[in-house]
Amino acid sequence: MSENRCPDCQDELSWKDGQYYCDACQHPVRKRAFCPDCDSELEKLQACGSASYFCNSCNELKSKSRVRVVFEKA
Ligand SMILES: [Zn+2]
Ligand SMILES: [Zn+2]
Repeated sequence: MSENRCPDCQDELSWKDGQYYCDACQHPVRKRAFCPDCDSELEKLQACGSASYFCNSCNELKSKSRVRVVFEKA
């Protein structure tokens, strides 16, 4: 099951031109991640094929399972 859903229609998003895209609504969708502790936007780090998230405010890595992910219209 995919966790990438359109914020408008809840349809599954596709990957297009380096960003998420909703085929139903025909608009790109941005994925943003927020710190579970301080609510700052997290920086996504790509390491060895798996993504991790870094909080510049807490100055530490955040576990992917705790990160709050928000999809919004780009
Ligand atoms: Zn949609
Ligand atoms: Zn933080």
